Amino acid sequence: MDSQAREFLFRLLETPSPSGYEQPVQTLVRDYLGRCADSVTTDSHGNVIGAKNTGAATRMMLAGHCDQIGLIVQYVDGDGYISVQPIGGWDPIQLIGARVTIWSATGPVPGVMSRKPIHLLTDEERKQVPKMKDLWIDIGATDKADCEGVVRVGDCVTVELRAQELRNGRCAAVAMDDKIGLWVVLEAFRRAVAAGPLPCALFVASTVQEEIGLRGAQTSGHAVDPHVAIAVDVTHATDCPTIDKKAEGDIALGRGPVVYRGPNMSPRVVDRLLAAAAKHSIPVQLGASGRAQPNDANPLQTTRSGVATGLVSVANRYMHSAVEVVSLDDADRSADLLAAFVRGLEGAIDWAP
Ligand SMILES: [Zn+2]
Repeated sequence: MDSQAREFLFRLLETPSPSGYEQPVQTLVRDYLGRCADSVTTDSHGNVIGAKNTGAATRMMLAGHCDQIGLIVQYVDGDGYISVQPIGGWDPIQLIGARVTIWSATGPVPGVMSRKPIHLLTDEERKQVPKMKDLWIDIGATDKADCEGVVRVGDCVTVELRAQELRNGRCAAVAMDDKIGLWVVLEAFRRAVAAGPLPCALFVASTVQEEIGLRGAQTSGHAVDPHVAIAVDVTHATDCPTIDKKAEGDIALGRGPVVYRGPNMSPRVVDRLLAAAAKHSIPVQLGASGRAQPNDANPLQTTRSGVATGLVSVANRYMHSAVEVVSLDDADRSADLLAAFVRGLEGAIDWAP
């Protein structure tokens, strides 16, 4: 990964985008695509779509969701403490002790998320799993009026966005899901375009609201009307303690992009991905899933009269926590794999299985 691409990834990671509040990240996406796409549009749902060479026979769509899980301000009590609802699927245990930012109309407001100290928990409370309603955000307000002077019901909240590089090209951040996938599709688009005239029409969508029901892929897929689409998202790495490979598969950081097989994935797309990987000596891992995917690949496949769909995933440890960990090499190779796939789409192609 070159230094410019790395810097762009870190900007994505450190810019807030809870579902429904994605436009700060979409601004970065528009800037980025403005330099390599023929057109960049934002639809009324908030998806950003870049397009190149739109007149060609085969219409290819890349999709990565730009939204991240977050929180939304629900209630301010008399003492100025804030109760929140989740945006997307949090494990409340992951939030205790988190530093957070409330993105208010007047700017970012720092806070901390906490609950009653362990010394003060009753025996019964110690046995229970904490729920979101047992936690609160403290912004240092002195009372309700002081808090409401800066925070409004409906403001979104993120857990500290700072990305942290670890050893061996690995990196931790709160929303690798799916900023890393978004980076992969944007970078694949840029690399495919930079390599010379495209054989196909290429679209890339930075989709919104994946985390609350795969919604942006539905609207953007309908608009693009592709023949073939590939979603890029994260998947569970199983190379850490307590995860059963027999139940969850064998997926590791640093072993390359994960190419998924199963009913949600077109066998023709899978074959082409594996052929592109072999041709360009890109190591890949196979993943299996017997159901509709809980990501953008699902609505893309059933768009209009059906789309030949693929799913390429980046292995991610500690999904939906404040410390998701990926390998930057895996992301880099995923972008190479998708660019190679795109550049192999000559003429009209029969995608029927
Ligand atoms: Zn995701």
